[in-house]
Amino acid sequence: MKRLRILCDVDGVLADFVGLVLDYVQKNTGLSYLPSAVDQWDCFACLGLKEHWPYFCTQVDELGLCRTMREIPGARSFYAELRRIAGESGAVRVCTTPMTTAWLSQRAEWLVAFGVPLHEQIQWCDKHELVPAYDVLIDDKAENCAAFVKAGGRAFCIATPYNTHLAELGYGNDVERGTHAECLEWLRGLA
Ligand SMILES: [Mg+2]
Repeated sequence: MKRLRILCDVDGVLADFVGLVLDYVQKNTGLSYLPSAVDQWDCFACLGLKEHWPYFCTQVDELGLCRTMREIPGARSFYAELRRIAGESGAVRVCTTPMTTAWLSQRAEWLVAFGVPLHEQIQWCDKHELVPAYDVLIDDKAENCAAFVKAGGRAFCIATPYNTHLAELGYGNDVERGTHAECLEWLRGLA
């Protein structure tokens, strides 16, 4: 069996960031949206609420909103299966980009509560710099997946309404895209 070293993103893969944004929007504007309304990476811009971004960041820091984020349904069993697939000779690490310095510590706490100890967490901005130390990236940002593949790694994009443009980036054939279950099937084929 191949030694598989897996990086797993958090927001949009394990944690419901869009849900956090929509909760904020409902509370601060009275407007309600379905998750499918967030069909671009810049979620506030695509809702026509770009001016809310700085206040959202302040609220996240001051109210500790990152710690309150809901888990995506099935996230714990998905992560447990990643560990099983990587096996004892491989490795799974979460790899997540901090939004603010306060976010960094809030995210670390969220992950510990989720079951990922601090030494299995990587908070990093340019994930493709971690090729070749890691073989696979699981992420919801199309650009992150494309950059990881360009650097020589393999990537799976967890499908959302805001990451349908892999083909436009030129990575429609090189980056897998689908559900969490399809991601696990793909990984089993690599292991
Ligand atoms: Mg993400």
